[in-house]
Amino acid sequence: MARLMYSSKINKIRSFALILIFAGILLMYGGILTKGIDWLVAIFFILGVLMILLSCVVYVWIGTLSLKAIPIICPNCEKPTKMLGRVDACMHCKQTLTLDKDLEGKEFDEKYNTRKYRREANKSK
Ligand SMILES: [Zn+2]
Repeated sequence: MARLMYSSKINKIRSFALILIFAGILLMYGGILTKGIDWLVAIFFILGVLMILLSCVVYVWIGTLSLKAIPIICPNCEKPTKMLGRVDACMHCKQTLTLDKDLEGKEFDEKYNTRKYRREANKSK
């Protein structure tokens, strides 16, 4: 059976920020390749700088998220990891984790973090 791999949210956001930096650098590099066309160079350069700035913002955001995340010891690999939301995955071994006893043993699903699900869960209580 094919199992979907869930990576921890912090790792996901971190790789997104990394991709943004690379995209920004590539765009600026693209600007260098279009030598001669001033406005094109300017557009590439501005887009590249914007992407790198955005990734800085994302990095700051990860920082604040990490502060809010709950540090726990993963039951699977016994390494310290951080959790965001009701369900998340271990940063090291991708073990799915939950803080909610009601969700224990259930198939991991990102929907448990959404407001809609929380509202429905409260209604059924
Ligand atoms: Zn683990």
